[in-house]
Amino acid sequence: MPQGLWFDPELCLIGGSWCAPVGGRTLALINPSDGSVLCNIARGEAADIDAAVGAAQNALQGDWGRMSALERGRILTRMGQLVLERVDDLALLEAQDVGKPLTQARADAVALARYLEFYGGAADKVHGQTIPYLEGYTVYTLREPHGVTGHIVPWNYPMQIIGRSVGAALAMGNAAVLKPAEEACLTALAFAHIAQDAGLPDGALNVVPGIGAEAGAALTAHPGVQHVSFTGSVATGALVQQAAGRNVVPVTLELGGKSPQLVFDDADLDAALPFLVNAGIQNAGQTCSASSRILVQRDVYDNIRHRMSEAYGALTVGPALSDLRVGPVISQRQKDIIQGFLGKGADLEVAAQGVLGDEAVNTGAYVLPTLFAGVPADHPLARDEIFGPVQVIIPFDTEEDAIRIANSTDYGLVASIWTGNGARQMRLAKAIRSGQVFINNYGAGGGVELPFGGVGKSGHGREKGFEALYGFSQLKTVAAYHG
Ligand code: NAD
Repeated sequence: MPQGLWFDPELCLIGGSWCAPVGGRTLALINPSDGSVLCNIARGEAADIDAAVGAAQNALQGDWGRMSALERGRILTRMGQLVLERVDDLALLEAQDVGKPLTQARADAVALARYLEFYGGAADKVHGQTIPYLEGYTVYTLREPHGVTGHIVPWNYPMQIIGRSVGAALAMGNAAVLKPAEEACLTALAFAHIAQDAGLPDGALNVVPGIGAEAGAALTAHPGVQHVSFTGSVATGALVQQAAGRNVVPVTLELGGKSPQLVFDDADLDAALPFLVNAGIQNAGQTCSASSRILVQRDVYDNIRHRMSEAYGALTVGPALSDLRVGPVISQRQKDIIQGFLGKGADLEVAAQGVLGDEAVNTGAYVLPTLFAGVPADHPLARDEIFGPVQVIIPFDTEEDAIRIANSTDYGLVASIWTGNGARQMRLAKAIRSGQVFINNYGAGGGVELPFGGVGKSGHGREKGFEALYGFSQLKTVAAYHG
């Protein structure tokens, strides 16, 4: 059993009751730090999803559907407070489950609390409009929940992704059915227990763990679901969109990227350096907004290559609970995918690698962080999402080159520009195809207030900030004729 587990992990939450899945099946949850079985979790299937959707519909007809926005907000705020009280417990579970170093897991738990605080405070602040119209009419708009929302969450940042999608959906008065990833779902279950403790009415949140092709596919295809939020791979995202399309319901897709940082010769390199490296290796590179491409102007190329290589030499890799800079990747399967990419880089210059800490055992899914230099912009390692601790440095000459290379992948999630030239900052912020652009920073600390989402194969729709509240609601126009 995982250290610090305080609930039965083999159950689903449906309509306020914790129950075994209908088929009685379970799945083993593997600890990526050493390959051991942490515990079993429920392997829900279509019948469980059906029951969860029914429970969500009942909640919308009952106390939850009748609750004021103010009261919904208070419950979310209470959930945030309880998360804050249990930050260390949640971090311990996440570290064992995802393989995330404890410090990073703790930051995710704090972010979950922050999402709940933000959406708790925002619940009663999403207003409609009055629209001046023809004589004799009064016209106004109402923001209403979609109804039942489906949430398919991956294994890389369970707490943050649950916070941003389930938090916003509940704030707008939807009833949620959550399908966490089969590789990591302990904090999703913990979150559901905390929601109950905070007084969330039965059925407002339902959680059905299980594998993607069973529980996940059943949720996205269910005719009782009115909105689907998905974070994960492009291939699965396309399946989710097809399934939701058959029911003509909207989807939000957040599908990852190949996010660049552009370093110009007039940049503050001391300020840039920690961001250049950390944005690539945080969570062992398994971050949708990881910066896997470092585009460097030729004049400062040798300098950056040298300094990033030094930083890589100090990256220690080991078990999540040892809390080194880099933990294992999520699974042996993910390790094999990353090793496959490293094989494709056999023709490239490896500038530097991290080092394995003494505590790492050979049954864990460890990958040494690897920095490739002098990489052509059209090389597979410079174009494809690797989802591991691998970065490439790509030299460029002019601003036009930098823009062309930055925009040359299928993705567009996040980009950053390092330059002291204000006019260039403004030009590039417009020219780069990306859902977010950062100037002289990367990620801006991940603020929950900042709308987030991609263009191209990075997906569509926006989560975080107030934009998510618009996405998790629909607009009704009321036109009253009174003469
Ligand atoms: P995935 O997209 O298959 O899984 C993500 C979630 O979708 C999981 O909860 C899974 O159970 C669910 N799912 C899988 N098949 C489904 C289906 N047919 N219908 C509905 N839901 C389904 O990703 P993965 O297999 O865990 O990882 C594969 C690759 O995806 C990684 O190597 C990485 O490149 C990418 N990925 C990206 C992100 C991201 O944040 N953008 C997160 C995880 C994985």
